[in-house]
Amino acid sequence: MANMVEWERILTARERIADTLPITPLLSSRTLNHETATQLWFKAENFQKTGSFKARGAFNRIRLAKSDPAVSGVVTASSGNHGQAVAFAARVHGLTAHIVVPQDASSAKIAAAEAYGATIEYCGTTSRERLERAEQLARQNGLVFVPPYDDVEVMAGQGTVGAEILEQLDDLDAVLVPIGGGGLISGVASAIKARRPSVQVIGVEPVGAASSYLSRQVHQRVELPAGLSIADGLRSVAPGVLTFPIIMSAVDHLVTVTDEQIRQAMWRLITRLKVLVEPSGACAAAYALAVDRPLAGQRVVAILSGGNVDPATLCRLLPS
Ligand SMILES: *Cc1c(COP(=O)(O)O)cnc(C)c1O
Repeated sequence: MANMVEWERILTARERIADTLPITPLLSSRTLNHETATQLWFKAENFQKTGSFKARGAFNRIRLAKSDPAVSGVVTASSGNHGQAVAFAARVHGLTAHIVVPQDASSAKIAAAEAYGATIEYCGTTSRERLERAEQLARQNGLVFVPPYDDVEVMAGQGTVGAEILEQLDDLDAVLVPIGGGGLISGVASAIKARRPSVQVIGVEPVGAASSYLSRQVHQRVELPAGLSIADGLRSVAPGVLTFPIIMSAVDHLVTVTDEQIRQAMWRLITRLKVLVEPSGACAAAYALAVDRPLAGQRVVAILSGGNVDPATLCRLLPS
């Protein structure tokens, strides 16, 4: 299939991350299997370094940047899990990390990036302003810009999740992947379709931020006025320029879930699996756990993409 991330590139990413990032486990629960009539495994990226799969793409991209001795640092414009992942990977490689965040960014996320030694710069309130500032910093200071999803090496890094799943399970019907900008699903779908094309790749979005779902219906990238969901990592208003063609060609189905389904999935993962995931991290699981049992009779992996949720948010979301 055209546009996909090459399998060789994903294998190279695996070699680059192997000494630092762990292979995450597949978890399962007899009760959840019984309740859903599905054989379910949960790929626990909430246990990944920095608390999300974003460490994979950032680490792969930054290890590559490090091979150029002229590069002294990296820059990105994302305050969430990607910012944390970039700060972590830069520190491991002895590079500086600049993170451009909105003036109204939440302090918990910024504190995590600062703890990894990143320099935080506040700039405007729109993503366009931040992106322009990050690109300016890259030009002026010789820093490498690390995009959150629209970059082939970032996608290849995220694709290592798919490569691991193929090694961990040899009989499998479907993989459920949450979609924000589409970097994770582009990498995972590229890995799965390269090695086992009969396995279905299903993208899951919150109904209030279903930019890929809507774009795919009209065969072009559409921009939402705003992404509305408790899943803060999935609120991107449009799929990427590089990720969208992969979503069009390599993903079998796109589905949506409600915020209430995400909230309930978080709670069932806590009570049944004893694992804590953030709202974005519960999105794929929410589809598998839906009451109408959409995947009954199948063998399915749902990616738990991250576990970074601050206590105040968690208290608001869980039943009292
Ligand atoms: C970034 C993120 C996603 C979405 O990944 P994309 O590559 O933007 O599609 C999903 N879950 C979590 C926890 C994330 O941090």
